[in-house]
Amino acid sequence: MKNDLNVAIVGGGIGGLFTANALLKHGINVSVYEQAPELGEVGAGVMITPNSMRQLQRVGLGEAVEKSGSLIGSKSQYYRFDGSPISGVQVTDSAGWNAVYGMHRADMISLLADGLPEGVIHEGHRCIGFEQSPDKAIVSFENGVKIDADIVIAADGIHSVLQHHVVPPADPVYSGSLVYRGVIPHELMPDWPMDTWQMWLGEKKHFLVFPLRSGKLINFVGFVSANVAERESWSEPGDPNMLRAEFAGWDDKLVELLTHVEKTFRWGLFDRDPLDHWVNGRLALLGDAAHAMLPHLGQGANQSIEDGMALAVILSKTPSSDFSLALDIYQKFRLQRVADVQTNARKNGLRYDSICADLAVRDAEITAHATFRKSIYDYDVVEKLNAM
Ligand SMILES: Cc1cc2nc3c(=O)[nH]c(=O)nc-3n(C[C@H](O)[C@H](O)[C@H](O)COP(=O)(O)OP(=O)(O)OC[C@H]3O[C@@H](n4cnc5c(N)ncnc54)[C@H](O)[C@@H]3O)c2cc1C
Repeated sequence: MKNDLNVAIVGGGIGGLFTANALLKHGINVSVYEQAPELGEVGAGVMITPNSMRQLQRVGLGEAVEKSGSLIGSKSQYYRFDGSPISGVQVTDSAGWNAVYGMHRADMISLLADGLPEGVIHEGHRCIGFEQSPDKAIVSFENGVKIDADIVIAADGIHSVLQHHVVPPADPVYSGSLVYRGVIPHELMPDWPMDTWQMWLGEKKHFLVFPLRSGKLINFVGFVSANVAERESWSEPGDPNMLRAEFAGWDDKLVELLTHVEKTFRWGLFDRDPLDHWVNGRLALLGDAAHAMLPHLGQGANQSIEDGMALAVILSKTPSSDFSLALDIYQKFRLQRVADVQTNARKNGLRYDSICADLAVRDAEITAHATFRKSIYDYDVVEKLNAM
């Protein structure tokens, strides 16, 4: 079907850039506007899981992920804080397809940007305004530029300025935890296994380690409780000694790993309550702008990739003149799936921080949770749309 829509995406993060790839693959014209003078993300990892890997393969980026990521294998494990094992980690879908990759965020952004023709991404464009009429949408930027488009996709993250044009303004919800994140060169710990995802669970804290960049980097994330809500930011340096003190007395392996931390960043963890709609006329929310979630299922970026593919498929199957029907289908189709993941991410955080009456119950829930993870991984957004 011929589709002559012009789509403007505000935000060049994982959600915005993947959506641009998916729209172009479906023959839809797109431009991306990013506030930063240069695309990029700083030093830490993101996990790509089978539900989004399928979509990355569909836009021709599967091999790039395999090449620059680290495949996470079946020896992945949950431990109690002292290193005693709880259960394995689900790393395949129900068909046994192992496609969980640890990716450096900067590599993920580069490979998504490399998938786009020159001229699609406009850096140095900070969106400050939005208006719409029956014929077009207009986006204004801080640099004085104004552009018009048939549809505008707000992929501008948890602090989305465009979200206020769809739902009333609301503050993100602070989770009561912050994370210390960083990477350690594998050469400093050559015996560390680079094909496993490992998580240690203790009271009000947990610690995650997985490999990045074809096994060259060890990614760590230390989750600790903190009463003061810190703004989520990469630029807030953390103190490696404070991080070591938080996990003193835990499993010896983990304590040894922490001796190699020279640099870490702190980031307060926020999410949002599920929204009941994502669309206002020509404007649609996507990724964290639509559904900021806690990282306890590793799904924020993966869900933004599902959003992008859903949007591209729905727009490509609808005549351009029916764009508002297409956006309506997009929001209805995505709302329930994403709200389910958002809610379960909160619940999983409580398990990981051992906030429960009985540790044996927690361990049983962690083991049983593999079934829910499998259902996330099995989901194929394109198959579901084709079945509608
Ligand atoms: C500790 C932690 C671990 C995580 N681990 C995982 C994981 O393993 N797997 C996973 O799937 N997810 C994970 N996530 C979640 C994931 O990082 C986010 O859900 C994902 O990055 C959201 O992508 P996005 O493109 O929607 O938003 P963002 O990545 O926030 O991108 C938004 C972009 O918009 C730009 N922007 C913002 N405002 C404007 C403006 N006014 N004008 C123009 N541009 C603008 C920003 O500069 C940015 O480039 C984790 C999150 C945290 C905090």
